Parts: sequence; structure tokens; C-alpha cells
Amino acid sequence: MHQHNGDAGSLSMNSDGETLSNLNSLFEHLASRDDLPEDVRTRLTEVWESHQQTQHLLAEARSDIALLSDRVLEQERREKKLETQLLYNRKSGLPNHYVLDNDLTGIIREAVVAARPRTIAVMIVALDEAYEMAHKALDRQYTDWIIYECAGRIQGILPANARLYHTRDNEFVLLLIGVDPLINLSDYAERIRDTLGDTFKFPEYTVRIGCLIGSSVFPRDGANKTQVLRSADIALNTAKNAQKPYLEFRPNMQSQAIEKMELQDAIIRALEEQSIAEISRQFSLFFQPYFELNMGDANDLYSRLIGAEALIRWQHPSRGLVDPSRFIPVAEESGLIVPIGSWTLFRAAELLAQWGDAGLAELTVSVNLSPRQFKDPHLVQNVETALRRSMVASERFRLEITEGSVMDDLDEGLRKLHGISQLGVRIVIDDFGTGYSSLNYLRRLPIQGIKLDKSFIDEVLTSSHTQGIIRAVLHMAQDMGIEVVAEGVESYAQAHYLASIDCPVVQGYFFGKPVPSDSFKRFAEMNSGRTVAHSEEKR
Ligand code: C2E
Ligand code: MG
Ligand code: MG
Repeated sequence: MHQHNGDAGSLSMNSDGETLSNLNSLFEHLASRDDLPEDVRTRLTEVWESHQQTQHLLAEARSDIALLSDRVLEQERREKKLETQLLYNRKSGLPNHYVLDNDLTGIIREAVVAARPRTIAVMIVALDEAYEMAHKALDRQYTDWIIYECAGRIQGILPANARLYHTRDNEFVLLLIGVDPLINLSDYAERIRDTLGDTFKFPEYTVRIGCLIGSSVFPRDGANKTQVLRSADIALNTAKNAQKPYLEFRPNMQSQAIEKMELQDAIIRALEEQSIAEISRQFSLFFQPYFELNMGDANDLYSRLIGAEALIRWQHPSRGLVDPSRFIPVAEESGLIVPIGSWTLFRAAELLAQWGDAGLAELTVSVNLSPRQFKDPHLVQNVETALRRSMVASERFRLEITEGSVMDDLDEGLRKLHGISQLGVRIVIDDFGTGYSSLNYLRRLPIQGIKLDKSFIDEVLTSSHTQGIIRAVLHMAQDMGIEVVAEGVESYAQAHYLASIDCPVVQGYFFGKPVPSDSFKRFAEMNSGRTVAHSEEKR
């Protein structure tokens, strides 16, 4: 062994491959000698076998490492792709809301520490219903292209300090960084609206869409990312509600939005348990009487109680009494009107049954239905169940709907109306004259009455034009065999005039305000079946 030390020493000087082949030949050389002492030969064999094993392990490790390295590369490729998918919108190629969140946080952080704090404007651009309609009507490839084109058009007019994001399918967000705090953003808004307003031309179609824009400015309208984005969103929503193309955030918008949110939240909480007890605790029905109207021989005025309209009231735990005109639109928007409305139907039927038991079997009750309630597929079923449970005769029950509820989808509306009519329940058009006001379409509807809106009654003594309309409506209604109710009658003079032109039914503060159900019951017990004479001095 000794004599090969030199060789062995030089082994480490060579490259791996050479080392191994040297080692091989050295082993073969040694093994071929027959003069080796037995213990040296044994040892040599052991060392060689262990060397072979090491080589094998090494080779395995090499191939494992190669495989691993392939996998790491593949993983990186996949992550990159995922990142693109996660951070960029597929249709527009623009960075999405994750990137916006991240960028805005960073930009605000920099703006705050800069020697002269910088102002950042946020504009949310939402494509309008025309886009939604195109989305429903056209193939995906058209709307995908519209989005791609919108992104391009906006980008084409952006200044250098702007960044554009595509945050929702129909929504883009624009950041203008380091702008003059007094910047007039409406110029930008107008430019964006102009460029998006140009038509999108396809071989078969031409599409025109518009947009609504809301904006806010950091730090004025929000001290951090979340607040400044929320302010822009509030401005956008206010623009939508006010049907304005563009609005900048104003602090009073926030209080309106918060109030709306609180209201919505409170309604949800009242209804969350779906417990009738909880709804009954917070909501109640008031009743406003309506009367048959008659003119005596001496031009004197008589009325006779025939029924009452159920008007919902909300006793909010901390806000006190909330007007229906405030919470019905919120409940309508969120769909919460449907459970509230079902409760109203059941409660009104229940009270009507109680009054019948108390000897007031002639009375009718009228219940309001909002447009969304009217669209509820369970409506007819609910009305039927409410009548069946309370065992109230269906002729004593009326439903008030507005013209818009039916006209939104005439075919479906007609089907609903027929379904309700078949139950024997009367249908009355509420606020008549404020909507489509087409007298002709009324002939197509299976209705039994109309309520002339208060705005006509307000002018009944002062406008001959209004008088003409009212007379025409009364005439047509008589022709069709339906009833007319004049609502919002506030004075003797109005009532007297209405009686003189044969308006059959009236309702209004002059005759009676909405009152809680037990007060109404007492009033009805005193007045049921009686004809009451009115004079100018009354009330
Ligand atoms: P509406 O159905 O047209 O009800 C008439 C409204 O005018 C009632 O207001 C009533 O209190 C008021 N009013 C009646 N007579 C006079 C009058 O002589 N002068 C004046 N200034 N006002 C009069 P209310 O109770 O605030 O209800 C407002 C609206 O809220 C109702 O208009 C109806 O559309 C809706 N609403 C009320 N209760 C319900 C309900 O249970 N369900 C649904 N869906 N809507 C309801
Ligand atoms: Mg009504
Ligand atoms: Mg009305």
C-alpha cells in the first residue's frame, strides 16, 4: 500500500471521473496480486464494497437532486402563472383589486412620510346597465372585448401619474398620485365618460355603454386605504341613486350611507331569528279608515266607514318610530321586504278575523304590497294561507299595488293578478296617476279599484286641469265598474268637491289619521253601520 501513497495522494488532485477510474484500476491492480496477506485482502474487499455502495448512493442522490430541481422549476413556473391569474384580470390584463389594495397601502405610506405630504385621488368607474344588458344579451366574446377595449380607452387618456386597476367585472379604479389638493377631478371624469361613451362596433351590432364615476381624495376623504376607497364607493353609490354621472365624495354622503346600513342591519336583526314574536315586538300595523262618501239633498256631506288601510310602523329599539317611507325602500332594496310583507299579510288577516268576531263583519282591510313583494313567487300562496288560517272571507281583503309593479313585467304581472283575483281578493292600484298613468292599460288588468294619488287631491280645488283629470278617471272607472278612492283628503272643501263629482270613496286626515289597531277597533265599534254628517267646522 505504501508504494501507492503517491498515487493515492495525487487522486484528490484529479476531477471526479478521473479519480474514480484511477481508483478502479488501483483496486484491480491490488486485487490481482496474489502475494497479499489474507487480512489485507479482506480489508481491501470490505473497503471496496463500501466504496461501491457509496457510489451507488451518490448516483441516487444525483438523480434525486435532478428530479427535485425540475420540480422546483415547474413549481416556480406554476406560481408565476398563478400570480398572473391572481393579480391580473384575464379580460383586461390590468392589475386587480389585490394589487390595488397593496399599491394604495404603499403609496399612502410614502405620501405620509414625504417631506411635502402628497394628495392621492381615487376614482371608481362603474359601467352602467347598458353593459349589464349587453352582458346578458350578447355572447361572451363580445363583452370580453368590450372590457378589453374599455381598459385600453381609459389607459389611452391617462396622465403619467395615474394607475389603472380592474377591480370587478364592470368596475375600474383609477389612482392619481401626487395631485394638486385642489384638483378638479370632474375634468378627468368627463374625459373618461367621453371615451367610454363612444360606440363599440361589431360586424352585427353597435353597442353603446355609459359609466358612473365616484371619487375621493386622500387625505381629505379618508385617513387610510380602506377609508378613502370606501369614500369613493359611497360617492359612486350616491351618484347611482341620484342618477348623476359623476360625484365627488362629500361628508354628508357618509352619514346617509351609514344610516342606511344601520337601518338594514337593524331590520336584519329584527328578522334574523325568523321569530314572529320578535317581528311583532318591533313592527306593528296602524289602520287608517276609508269611507263611502255621499252628498245629501241640501248639498250636505255624509260618510260611512267601510274599511281601513293597514300601514306598517316600525318601533326601533333605539331610534324610536321609523317612518315607512324611510325603511320600506331600504327593506325593498335588500329583499327584506318579503318577510316583513308576509308578516303584514298574516297580521292584517288575523286582526280582521278578530274584528269580525267582535261584530265588525262588514269591514274590509287593505294591505300594501311593494314591487318586490309583488314579484315574490310565493305571494299568491301566502295570501291564500293567510286567509285560510284566519278564516276571513276573501272579499274583505284588498291588496294595494302600484302601477310600476305590474308594468315592470306585464305578462308575469297579469298572471299574478289573475292568481290573486281567483282567490276572490280585490286588487287596488295605489298612488294612481304618479306612474305610467295610462288609462287604457287599466282595462287589461283584473283590478277592482284605483286610489287617486294625494297629489291630485292637493290640487283639486285650485287646478281646473286636475279637476278634468279626476273627472275623466271617475268616468272611466264607472265605465269599467271599478271603485275610485281619493287618498289624502285633508279638508272639508276637498271632500265636498269630491262628493259633488260623485267620487265614491275617500281616505285622509280630514276623516281619520292612521291609528294603532286597538284604537281603530274602538273607532269602528262606534261608527260601524252609521252614516256621519260633516260640516265645514269639523276638525
Ligand atoms: P300609501 O299606501 O300611499 O299610504 C298613504 C300614506 O299617506 C300613508 O303614509 C298615510 O299615513 C298618508 N296619508 C293618509 N292620509 C293623508 C293625508 O290626509 N295627508 C297626508 N299628508 N298624508 C296622508 P305612511 O303610513 O307613512 O305610508 C307611506 C307609504 O309606505 C305608503 O303609501 C305605502 O306605500 C308604504 N307602506 C306603508 N305600510 C306598508 C306596508 O305594510 N307594506 C308596504 N309594502 N308598504 C307600506
Ligand atoms: Mg296604500
Ligand atoms: Mg298611496
